[in-house]
Amino acid sequence: MANQLNMDSRRYGVDRRSFLRYLSAVSAIPLISLRSEASASSYTKFKTNPFTLGVASGDPSSDGVVLWTRLAPDPLNGGGMPNTSVLVRWEVAGQEDFSDVVRSGVSVAPVQLGHSVHVEVDGLDADRWYFYRFHVGDETSPVGRTRTAPDVNAMPDRMKFAFTSCQHYEHGYFNGYPHMQQEDLDLIIHLGDYIYEGAGRDGQLRKHIGGELNSLADYRNRHSQYRLDQSLQETHRQFPWLVTWDDHEFDNNYANLVSEEDGVSPEEFLVRRMNAYQAYYEFMPLRRSAFPQGPHMTLYRACRFGRLVNFHVLDTRQYRSDQPNGDGLKPMEGKVFDQHATILGDRQESWVMGSLAGSTSVWNALAQQVMMAPVNRGDGGQDKYKMDQWPGYDVSRRRLLNFFHSRTGLNPVILTGDIHVNWVNDLRLDFTDSTSPVVATELVGTSMCSGGNGGNIIPEFERAAANNEFVRWYDSNRGYVSCEVTPQNWTARFRATPFVDKPGSPVFTAGTFLIEAGRAGVHSV
Ligand code: FE
Ligand code: CA
Repeated sequence: MANQLNMDSRRYGVDRRSFLRYLSAVSAIPLISLRSEASASSYTKFKTNPFTLGVASGDPSSDGVVLWTRLAPDPLNGGGMPNTSVLVRWEVAGQEDFSDVVRSGVSVAPVQLGHSVHVEVDGLDADRWYFYRFHVGDETSPVGRTRTAPDVNAMPDRMKFAFTSCQHYEHGYFNGYPHMQQEDLDLIIHLGDYIYEGAGRDGQLRKHIGGELNSLADYRNRHSQYRLDQSLQETHRQFPWLVTWDDHEFDNNYANLVSEEDGVSPEEFLVRRMNAYQAYYEFMPLRRSAFPQGPHMTLYRACRFGRLVNFHVLDTRQYRSDQPNGDGLKPMEGKVFDQHATILGDRQESWVMGSLAGSTSVWNALAQQVMMAPVNRGDGGQDKYKMDQWPGYDVSRRRLLNFFHSRTGLNPVILTGDIHVNWVNDLRLDFTDSTSPVVATELVGTSMCSGGNGGNIIPEFERAAANNEFVRWYDSNRGYVSCEVTPQNWTARFRATPFVDKPGSPVFTAGTFLIEAGRAGVHSV
């Protein structure tokens, strides 16, 4: 472990002394073993049902999926479990009454992972619904429903998925989720800001428990508070999810090892990052490939739906250089053009280009966090671009767009969150030239509820939408985006919930856009 971390200290430019201090902090943490069946007990004495956080599934493949649960009789206070790992039985069936169990087994809920359970089931049939549940002692979990992806060589007629992001618990209710549950979806994608790390504040609609998150216990309790929201928990129960994080799962607008606040030492920040990443892993239906290694966690990966669509999931936070031109809104100048600045990191960038180059799918979606289109928010005086987004890393942004341009048949569609409003953007090779070719399409989804009730007029964004010719649509409602993908067309419906300040909002479609295979850019319907 020390060798690996020392290697990383060079990679991140942290000095050796800081790293030794960091290591001594880390060494206090027991090593997590996935093979701890021997020491696990068949604990049975539950006073209350330990499945308070429900069940979830994710990262579907053509022959399997990840099943998730967590034993937590007292979820808001550290879980309420004894200090021992516990054996959990799981079952997968084709029928909801479990009359035809096709796979079953025993898995460990390790004490080191807060008694979370991740089962990577394989041997399932492609492209069909399954039901699953967990047993521990005399207790049984709710029955989850999940779906495998089509065979890798199949060309499905269609697939449907929804994507969302940014669900600040204090800002409102997750009113999009009950409507998502009514849709005939194969998959749900979450693009980050699943939790927010800030301290509980008075006078909000709902209140975060505790102060600003720092310890592993803090992050666990916060994830529990969010997952206890029944609309969110129920949507996990009904569909497989594909998740990635943005900044707030850890710390606002962080870049790699750099805090947005001054005076935070890298080793302090690394320990906090380790806590945040571990809790994220614990609460999400992720594969073993994402198993956290100290303050590192590999979240970039691909998820393929036959030859129809390939989802390339990105992590634009963990490996990025510190905002090269500083944070905030600035003109495109100076260090924005730093040749060494990177938003993906070299390894992830090579991976995604290789993944795209090797893809045999009609459509290639990039499920990622921050806006790629360089939207100028200036008012005619000084130009203003958001330095925390792809425009702040202009060399990385151009390299990816050039890559799209150099390959035919990629049909790239960028799925974006973070900014809490809807945008539809044609991504031109050179955004300053309205005759430059459109090489990709960007669908930016609004927040689930961050920012409170939407639909209001935001003058800065209205102006930006009007002044940037490649912006095809802008809308400030809350909600989610529902996509229907066929070999010919990609249809995106921007679903809007008029209010989030109380539960039970209706939903309407604020905009519908069509992308044709072989022709980047959108047409409104
Ligand atoms: Fe957000
Ligand atoms: Ca964000």
